Amino acid sequence: MVNIRICPKCKEPSLKSAVNVSGWLAPNMLECTKCGYIGYFYIEIDPEDFQLDQEDPTDDK
Ligand SMILES: [Zn+2]
Repeated sequence: MVNIRICPKCKEPSLKSAVNVSGWLAPNMLECTKCGYIGYFYIEIDPEDFQLDQEDPTDDK
């Protein structure tokens, strides 16, 4: 199972590898295309947890 990386700022799975000002790929750095966050920190979650989080709990019963 592959974990999802989500942005620590907006909690969206919109992270991609960041490119620095010189145009070089910075493999350890991540950029959020949603809120513009750039940094090394990300939250890694289980895809099942993410789906549970997205669904309305009242829809279950
Ligand atoms: Zn974000």
